[in-house]
Amino acid sequence: MLVLLTVLPVFAQLKKNSLKLPSIQGYELLKCDFHMHTVFSDGMVWPTTRVLEANQEGLDAIALTEHIEYTPKSEDFTSKDHLRSYAIAEKSAKELGIILIKATEITRRMAPGHFNVLFVKDANAFETFVNKDDTRDGKNIAETLDEAKKQGAFVFWNHPWFQHPENRSEWQKIHEELDQKKLISGIEVVNGDRYDSLVFKWCLDKNLTIMSNSDIHAPMVLFPGQYRAMTLVLAKERSEKGIQEALVNHRTIACMEGQLFGKEEWVKPVVDNSLIVKARQINDKTAILEIENTSGIPYKMELTDASGIRFRLNSPLNDFTLDALSQNTITITSSNFVKGTEYSVKLNVLNVQVGAGKPLEYILKFRI
Ligand SMILES: [Zn+2]
Ligand SMILES: [Zn+2]
Repeated sequence: MLVLLTVLPVFAQLKKNSLKLPSIQGYELLKCDFHMHTVFSDGMVWPTTRVLEANQEGLDAIALTEHIEYTPKSEDFTSKDHLRSYAIAEKSAKELGIILIKATEITRRMAPGHFNVLFVKDANAFETFVNKDDTRDGKNIAETLDEAKKQGAFVFWNHPWFQHPENRSEWQKIHEELDQKKLISGIEVVNGDRYDSLVFKWCLDKNLTIMSNSDIHAPMVLFPGQYRAMTLVLAKERSEKGIQEALVNHRTIACMEGQLFGKEEWVKPVVDNSLIVKARQINDKTAILEIENTSGIPYKMELTDASGIRFRLNSPLNDFTLDALSQNTITITSSNFVKGTEYSVKLNVLNVQVGAGKPLEYILKFRI
């Protein structure tokens, strides 16, 4: 019997699984993951694999953030250069058009915790600040992050709940000090599959940049239509410089499992530009609303003020989901629709939050 075996490159058979987002006037809406690991710290994959994964998911930018203070595989991967994974991944990132940002993770006990340093110039300089007797000693974190500041880096606090005795985020004295000294510019509101509403509130109250990252250590395994946690960046240009400028000026949205968390001025245009609304009248009491959601994010709508207009699918609706990448058809009824009139209804977009527990208020307009 003849057996034929065909060997294909690992990624050749896979289709791109990229979250579709609308374009925003004046900005490039970039999909970024600024936190991940490879074998050069405690991750399980080779650096170029992270680039291939990012390409598969249509990401615009990634950062390999190896721990300075924690390199459990250093007997096998012996390089002393903390940007070794960057050097290995650089060529494939360039070939695939992915912006690879030089970065590292300062890894201390809570408090203060862990910090990612993006756009770092010399990651090895942080070795100077490591207490060799107790590598996780957090005492000199201000001096360490001051070195990051001198290098012109962008620093954010990672997973603020991690290694807290009660597994919750707590703004401690040291964080106040780091914020006062402008040594941190953002915080992870989302890390992997965890979102923290208190951290979202901190970001808005203290004007810190909202960050959302995978912190992936294992190979990235996603079903089609499933996406990693990402920071959506509204950049003036699709470049490293453009991303840095947007991060410094807080133009980001946390994106996680079909939810968006961000300032109203940034999330509203995303919802607006995702939807194409058309209405056609059936008679003076009935019309059909066709709402096309061109984005990969399903929007969970809750009617708050429909001024006499009733939404129906099979039965009366108060809540409905505008499915991703779909034409959504809804019957609406009223005591009297007048042709040529513009109508508007108020909705909450439940999975798009503009404050902790506060959904985006949205006005849906249509002309009959
Ligand atoms: Zn960490
Ligand atoms: Zn990490």
